[in-house]
Amino acid sequence: MPFWPGVVIATPAHSGVGGVLSYRSESPLTPGALVRVPLGSREVLGVVWECPATPPQGLSEAQTRAVAAVLDGLPPLNGRWRQLVKFAAQYYQRSLGEVALAALPPQLRELDGTQLARRLKKRAKAAQAAAATPGGLSGHDLSAEQTEALNALAGASAPVLLFGTTGSGKTEVYLRATQAVLETAPPAGEAPTQVLVMVPEINLTPQLEARFRERFEPAFGVGAVVSLHSGMTPAQRLASWLAAHTGAARIVLGTRMAVFASLPGLRLIVVDEEHDPSYKSQEGARYSARDLAVYRAKVESEALANAPHPGPLPPAGEGERPRCQVLLGSATPSLESWHAADQGRYLRLAMPGRVGGGALPRLRLVDMNHQPKGAAIAPLLLAAMQQRMARGEQCLVLLNRRGYAPVLACHACGWKSGCPHCSAYRVFHKLDRTLRCHHCGFTERVPRACPDCGNLDIAPVGRGTEQLEEQLSALLADARRPDGAPVRVARMDADTTKAKGSLQAQLAALHSGAVDVLVGTQMVAKGHDFRRITLVASINADAALFASDHRAPERLFALLMQAAGRAGRDAAQSGASEMWVQTWHPQHPLFATLKQHDFPAFAASELREREIAGMPPFGFQALLRADARTQAAAQAFLNLAAELAADLPQREQITLYPAVPLTIQRVAQVERAQLLVESASRGALQRFLSAWQPVLHACRSAPEARGLVRWAVDVDPLSI
Ligand code: ADP
Ligand code: ZN
Ligand code: ZN
Repeated sequence: MPFWPGVVIATPAHSGVGGVLSYRSESPLTPGALVRVPLGSREVLGVVWECPATPPQGLSEAQTRAVAAVLDGLPPLNGRWRQLVKFAAQYYQRSLGEVALAALPPQLRELDGTQLARRLKKRAKAAQAAAATPGGLSGHDLSAEQTEALNALAGASAPVLLFGTTGSGKTEVYLRATQAVLETAPPAGEAPTQVLVMVPEINLTPQLEARFRERFEPAFGVGAVVSLHSGMTPAQRLASWLAAHTGAARIVLGTRMAVFASLPGLRLIVVDEEHDPSYKSQEGARYSARDLAVYRAKVESEALANAPHPGPLPPAGEGERPRCQVLLGSATPSLESWHAADQGRYLRLAMPGRVGGGALPRLRLVDMNHQPKGAAIAPLLLAAMQQRMARGEQCLVLLNRRGYAPVLACHACGWKSGCPHCSAYRVFHKLDRTLRCHHCGFTERVPRACPDCGNLDIAPVGRGTEQLEEQLSALLADARRPDGAPVRVARMDADTTKAKGSLQAQLAALHSGAVDVLVGTQMVAKGHDFRRITLVASINADAALFASDHRAPERLFALLMQAAGRAGRDAAQSGASEMWVQTWHPQHPLFATLKQHDFPAFAASELREREIAGMPPFGFQALLRADARTQAAAQAFLNLAAELAADLPQREQITLYPAVPLTIQRVAQVERAQLLVESASRGALQRFLSAWQPVLHACRSAPEARGLVRWAVDVDPLSI
């Protein structure tokens, strides 16, 4: 008697397929099992979603094809994982197959059963060899704030927002919370307990990885901590994934993609720097890993609560029951999480003090209206930096723009270094004498003369990190360190850290004291535990003060506060640490709250404005984006989609705005436009979007949309 397993497979985003496909099998298959199935003339990897014993309506045995192989060496993906995937697909308006298969390591698609069995055997051997040497776990003596936070966490049943100032020792809280989970024995027959720790950019946090390994490998074995991020080779990713899936790995450390890792014993999810925009995917299913982490913890907890419990339940408090917690940490939480805590949906735990009692840096505003014309760095700031150098302290200088200058221009005829493929300027990189488009990558040698009028005198306009590094080196040429040696200036941005290992080398140079001044983009502001930096300067952040994007102030405040957080982390030096901000608008209210390090006041005022405007988290948004060969086609597709939405359910609760071009409207010869969808109700927005999907598929082939390249829905977009 055959069975009719429903299988999900990777499907092109808009093929219209993407639901569950029916196959045939001689034996019943467990939901969550991995299989290989025929698709056209190919054979592809799939996940069994269901396995009915009766054929689906309208299908006969002859119309279905047989499952080609079952990867039965591998335990099936559990029901909680499938529920996470299903939710993500629905919520972010993508196909089940696309989300499910994207959540698996790519190399899994290429392996047959025998190859996979070999990998698993190799893994098991390695795990045996790396057996743990029992030993105590070390760690700091906890501060009072850390102890209090951990106690509160232990009793929390809601998601926890750890609002800990920079340098308050959040990492130690993550480590202790992890330790508590790992030391909890799972019920008999269950997978060993596991913890997922997410960081915004794993390449920027080798320190964190090292700390987890150092803390847990001695007691739990060398394979206990694995990473999952896009910088790994396919083989490494598969190895980490298998370790997590089989329970061999107890801690998975990763970037946003790790939220989908299969973790049968998951008991805690940590989201470090939870406000970071990189948790939101900008391609494929545009999911928020932070939001999915909260959902996942809830699903896991419900499953654990409903699971038959061996033996009598512990009588006292909820806290003793098995559950999966989620811990969101930040010194500058997202307004969404902050609002959830205001409402009592999340439990807010504050750690306002720095470990060791160090002070937060004092804010010094430099009014650029009163500086010598054209000066990159105000004389007062430069003097302050020199003073630091002379004492053997370090400075961090932040400029959020890489390259030498954002534009090269001819003053004779007005030519500018535009990109022929994008509506953007190409950036002048002086080191390799190129003009590079940061949007499409188009790169050319810098022309000797103006391509339009032949003028030899073409000049950079504006300033990037390369130029700032050059200027600072010149300005500090006579500055000396306490040992009499000249001051060393280095730069850290996406250009200097491209080569493998170069970031680590640069960080090491800073930690060892080989570098005195580090110039860099926002990359240097995040998370690092620098010990000898006592001055941080932001050179030009004004653009964000007046950006049309309603999240710009939130991002700027977070960036400046995080940057400030790199200074004075050593309590002994912290008293004199400073954060300098050069601005043309020193009266801007954002600086007043920044001066007080008063995030709660800033959040309250931003939230008030959002509430009045009906913006998230008080309203809900989605974007319909379209790429096309002409701007007219992109907008026509969007406007047609809006028109045809007239009769859809919930339409009266939805506001559809007219299609508009994106700020950078053309990239790589493709015109881009978007249409904003808004509602006061998340549920209404969700139901509307689901009903809209078939309309969007139909619009695609409408004559108005000729030239459309692709479209996508972005739910809870980060920028509009
Ligand atoms: P945050 O992530 O909150 O900015 P970190 O976790 O990086 O702060 O901690 C800042 C520094 O304080 C680190 O060098 C860490 O090793 C140290 N630290 C953390 N907790 C303690 C403690 N209880 N006692 C002493 N030092 C600590
Ligand atoms: Zn010219
Ligand atoms: Zn370009």
